[in-house]
Amino acid sequence: MNRRLLFVHAHPDDEASKGAATAARYADEGAEVVLVTFTGGEAGEVLNPSADAVTPEQMASVRAAELAAAVEAIGFTRTHGMGYLDSGLPEDPADVDEDCFARVPLDEAATTFAELVRKERPQVVVTYPEDGGYPHPDHIMTHLVTMRGLDLAEDPAAPVSGEPWRVPKLYASTAFPAERVRALHAALEDREGENPFERWRERLEERPNPPATPDAWVEVGDWLERRDAALKAHVTQVDPDGFWFAVPREVEREVFPYEGFLLLRTDVPVLPPEDDLFAGLDEA
Ligand SMILES: [Zn+2]
Repeated sequence: MNRRLLFVHAHPDDEASKGAATAARYADEGAEVVLVTFTGGEAGEVLNPSADAVTPEQMASVRAAELAAAVEAIGFTRTHGMGYLDSGLPEDPADVDEDCFARVPLDEAATTFAELVRKERPQVVVTYPEDGGYPHPDHIMTHLVTMRGLDLAEDPAAPVSGEPWRVPKLYASTAFPAERVRALHAALEDREGENPFERWRERLEERPNPPATPDAWVEVGDWLERRDAALKAHVTQVDPDGFWFAVPREVEREVFPYEGFLLLRTDVPVLPPEDDLFAGLDEA
C-alpha cells in the first residue's frame, strides 16, 4: 500500500509543535506526508525575546518563510497553504474579524478542504480534537472544517470536484498529553533548577476528569531532533532558550520518546494503544 498521511493545522508553527516527529518518521519510512495549514499566522506576535522585531505588515511573509524552513526540516512531501486570515486570540471569540478563518462560512472552507482530500486521497488524517486542543478559535475551526470536509469528500452528491474519497482513519494530535507531562515532570524532579512542568502537573492532578489518554503512541526517539529543528525554524514564535527546550533532548529520548494521538474514528478494527497510525490498513 502507498501510505498517505495528511496533517491539518491552523497556523504556521502548529505543524512543529504537534506531531512533527511523527510526520518526519513516516516521511523517512516512505509515506507521502502532506501538510495543510489553514491560515498564514499573520496575527501572531513576536514571542521569542531573542528574535528581531517584525512589523504587523511583515508578519505574513516572515511566517511563510519560517513555515517553509520547518517543512524542510520535517520533510513533508507536499504542503498546501489554504490562505485564510489568522483570527488572532481575542478575549471574546465574538470579536474575531469577519474576514478571518474562524468566521468563514463552514461549508465554504470545508468544500475547499474536501477537494484537496479527494486529490490527496489520504488513508490517515490528523486534525485537532473537538475543543481545538487549546481554545484558539482557529484551532476549533480547524476541527470543524476537517470533520465537515471529510463528510463532503466521501459524499458522491456533494458539490465538490473530484472522485469521492473516504478517509478510513482519523486522529487528533496532542501536544502535551498528561502522560507526557507526568513523565517529563518526573524526569526533571531530580535535576537542578526550575521544573517548568510543576504547576502544570499539579493542575492535572486537581482536575475532576482526567484528560483523554491517546489511543496511539508513535515512537519518535530518532526524530526528536527534526522536531526541534522545525520548532527553531519558527524564529519569531519559539524561544530557543524557553519552554520547548526545557527538557534536555537525551532525557526526553530516554523517558518519553512518543507522540500521542486520539482516535476520532476508524473503519478498521483497532486495539489501543496502537503504535502505528496505519495499523489495520495495510491488510485492508
Ligand atoms: Zn495555532
